[in-house]
Amino acid sequence: MSAVKVCILCKQSFDSDQSLDLPEQQAGLLLAKQEYQDAGDLCANCLASRGRLAMMYKTECFD
Ligand SMILES: [Zn+2]
Repeated sequence: MSAVKVCILCKQSFDSDQSLDLPEQQAGLLLAKQEYQDAGDLCANCLASRGRLAMMYKTECFD
């Protein structure tokens, strides 16, 4: 079941069934689940940018 949701960061609508194949998207998803508790509320782009930052600054988490 997929649904259209609105990203809490950029306000773009996205599909809740979006595929997150890139490593930075996976990293962002992990952070959303573990640190921010907002997984499912962010679009793939925002997950990717969060993940990209985390991979730069929190390298100990992603080795
Ligand atoms: Zn977004």
